[in-house]
Amino acid sequence: MHVAPARFPTKYWHQLPDGRLQCDVCPRECKLKEGQRGLCFVRAREGDMVVLDTYGRSSGFCVDPIEKKPLNHFLPGTPILSFGTAGCNLSCRFCQNWDMSKSREIDTLADAASPEAIAAKAKELGCRSVAYTYNDPVIFLEYARDTAIACRELGIKSVAVTAGYVSPGAREDFFAEMDAANVDLKAFTDDFYHRLCAGHLQPVLDTLLYLKRETDVWFELTTLLIPGENDSKSELETMTQWVVDNLGPDVPMHFTAYHPDFKLLDRPSTPPATLSRARDIALHNGVRYAYTGNVYDEAGESTYCHNCGEVVIERNWYVLGGWHLDEEGCCRFCGARCAGVFEPRPGTWGARRLPVRIAGAAP
Ligand code: SF4
Ligand SMILES: [Zn+2]
Repeated sequence: MHVAPARFPTKYWHQLPDGRLQCDVCPRECKLKEGQRGLCFVRAREGDMVVLDTYGRSSGFCVDPIEKKPLNHFLPGTPILSFGTAGCNLSCRFCQNWDMSKSREIDTLADAASPEAIAAKAKELGCRSVAYTYNDPVIFLEYARDTAIACRELGIKSVAVTAGYVSPGAREDFFAEMDAANVDLKAFTDDFYHRLCAGHLQPVLDTLLYLKRETDVWFELTTLLIPGENDSKSELETMTQWVVDNLGPDVPMHFTAYHPDFKLLDRPSTPPATLSRARDIALHNGVRYAYTGNVYDEAGESTYCHNCGEVVIERNWYVLGGWHLDEEGCCRFCGARCAGVFEPRPGTWGARRLPVRIAGAAP
């Protein structure tokens, strides 16, 4: 199915004295002459404005367990309708989703859907939330935001899966409509961000501080550990101490396994012991909820009460086992509150992955 590109006028740009238009969505600050596209490839100059090419266009919809985002403390066990578009504003050499994020084939975005159609489909499918994921939603901010607004009207929550590489004005508008986020904290050195992602660390830290200080968005962090690049003891010590000192002990951290992909093929897959060691460092430094991911590790995937140490949510891949939280989200053993957004009972979606079509509902 061929769908004409949806050019959507945007407001996050300003004109420079030399006549170029500077995009203000992310710290790349692309400066565009007529006909040029930004690094993300989906924002382009057309005449006297910058347009978004992927409004209303998706690379596909799928119902996933929310644990796959990963979020372990936000409506556990519930299904989430997930979608992305094309392009990305970081250039990670190790990208694990590069077929979509590096896509320049906007015409392959065949599944057209209006924000209202997405919200209605989520409700029809029994999803409690919608995820803006696969590629970074800050680059399709207007589409994600309008979808989140449509979802909110139907009682559906919104979850951003993002690298947090976004500029202040766009950051506020984007997160104003989000209920939860998983933010990639890819490493804790600017050298890593610069060398492997062509970006910088500080804007990501600024986003995390913003989320903590200025919003009610529930957020969790994910770090893909790449052997020899971001898995040293000292880096993980510094990172986890920063998290506790600046974001508090209740922000969950996920340490996930890297597999050789895209342009970074000469590093081995992450040994499970590296993930467990990172988790131990986080816990030792005061992070209350630390997880391993992308490996079989029931102990590292389950949630423990920060007060008495008992398992309060058992997980095996994306399937929940024992549930020992009361209706208020407190530990049944000692009564301490588990941080997060919980309902009286967990969802029962399990590990299923259900591809969904919404085509034909274009705006
Ligand atoms: S959102 Fe895209 S066009 Fe805008 S500054 Fe970032 S990479 Fe450049
Ligand atoms: Zn307890």
